[in-house]
Amino acid sequence: MAYSINKDDCIGCGTCEGECPSGAISVGEDGKYLIDPEQCLDCGACASVCPVDAIKE
Ligand code: SF4
Ligand code: SF4
Repeated sequence: MAYSINKDDCIGCGTCEGECPSGAISVGEDGKYLIDPEQCLDCGACASVCPVDAIKE
């Protein structure tokens, strides 16, 4: 399993990117953030800081 970001909910704040220990999170051309499932460690740090609860396992 890996965590993923619901694009419809993401407001592009970037908070999750700063919390990710593996660098799995990046921003797309549309300003929404994405998680690379190959790099995700399933730690949950990003989900715990997202202000709009857009990140789920
Ligand atoms: S669950 Fe952890 S490793 Fe995976 S994207 Fe979120 S912060 Fe990064
Ligand atoms: S913390 Fe949440 S709202 Fe902010 S960029 Fe990440 S997924 Fe989007």
